Amino acid sequence: MYCSKCGQYNENGSQFCRTCGNSLINNSQTQNIVNNDVVSDEEFEKKLRGTKWFSITLSVINSITLLAGIYVKNWYLVLLELVIITVLILFYVLTKKRMIAGPIIGIVLGILYIMSFNIISIALGIVVILDSIVMYKYISNKNKN
Ligand SMILES: [Zn+2]
Repeated sequence: MYCSKCGQYNENGSQFCRTCGNSLINNSQTQNIVNNDVVSDEEFEKKLRGTKWFSITLSVINSITLLAGIYVKNWYLVLLELVIITVLILFYVLTKKRMIAGPIIGIVLGILYIMSFNIISIALGIVVILDSIVMYKYISNKNKN
């Protein structure tokens, strides 16, 4: 953390600034208030489980569509389904590894669902985007500390 008085960087958890001796306890309290809108580890794990089931369910649906595409020899559909399945897997795996790319993929995925203009996919898209934003904040906050 940085000293509020002189700006010197100090190890997290230090009580006093090593340059000017200013008390850093108020600093860490301010930091907690700033980070208040970030979810806890437990909430993140819960969201991650949701992402897992969301990705599995949609991958199954898309795999069925992919097989149907192979059956009717619609190669555009096959390619599209392969891309969607890959994106779903990346979304889950990268988010699980707490990489910022995970929730960014989630936000893009949500936008794509919304753009496909049917009631179910718009609802899905909004849920995915909201969850991805929460996970984005959580991961970027983890990376900062
Ligand atoms: Zn200082």
